[in-house]
Amino acid sequence: MKRATILGALLVIGVVGGLASALVAQQQQPRPPLPDVTKVKDNLYVIASSAPGPEFTGGNTGVFVTDSGVVVVDTKLSGYGPTILEKIKKVTSKPVTTIINTHTHGDHTGSNEGFPATVDIVAHENTKANMVKMDAFKGDKAQFLPKRTYKDKMSVGSGKDRIDLYYFGAGHTNGDTWVVYPALRVLQTGDMFAWRDAPTIDRNNGGSGIDYPKTLSKAVAGIKNVDVVIPGHSPVTTLKDLQEYQRFMVDWVAAVQAAAAAGKSVDDAAASIDLTGKYPGYKNERYKAAITAVYAELKK
Ligand SMILES: [Zn+2]
Repeated sequence: MKRATILGALLVIGVVGGLASALVAQQQQPRPPLPDVTKVKDNLYVIASSAPGPEFTGGNTGVFVTDSGVVVVDTKLSGYGPTILEKIKKVTSKPVTTIINTHTHGDHTGSNEGFPATVDIVAHENTKANMVKMDAFKGDKAQFLPKRTYKDKMSVGSGKDRIDLYYFGAGHTNGDTWVVYPALRVLQTGDMFAWRDAPTIDRNNGGSGIDYPKTLSKAVAGIKNVDVVIPGHSPVTTLKDLQEYQRFMVDWVAAVQAAAAAGKSVDDAAASIDLTGKYPGYKNERYKAAITAVYAELKK
């Protein structure tokens, strides 16, 4: 009896110990490091994105240091809250007061949970609706959902610290926010302009290849007085490159629609469409997935 109790106790210790070490292992699982903050202009910095792959950390993170606190635009994959805060501390001792999520994806919203629950979180209303459906924001984690939403346009802060948020329609998702820092003439695009290649068109979250070029046109026409552009997943660039991306997407969607009208399969369309000659520096690695999304949309 006594022996059984001791054995039982040992068993419990063994199981608990095993669980504890499994948890520690999970917590200590190394994540790819983040680069330091780099200055975009004056009081605006970026913690750069990385390319998808084993070293992937998420999208570009904007860090805007205002008089009343720090605004963080996009929070990368989960688990980066402490590291983002550490990086911000190198440029300011002010607390993070606001998070803006450009859209729902986990590589832009994943570390919302790493910030104090008092932080104001802002996103487009459709993005909040999309985030509510994510497992990452269920139960206790619901406190890291957007607290404020908007439909067409919204401003956060005032004077030189004002940020203007615009929604111009569907594309990457149905809730992509264009973030403008007017005093600095800088625009952060989220994944509406992620890279120089076909975009990810997330139809499960309301994205649309057909609307994509129209939405880009509205943004290019509607956002004034900007010189510098922070894309979703590539280095800081200029407005000229966003304007070029808009022209690329007009051509690319037209080519996909023509291929569909000619009865080409997705594979044949992907093999025959190539805009890399017309748009130097562009890749065609993401055509097939994007064509698949446009074809599904055309069939509907
Ligand atoms: Zn995305």
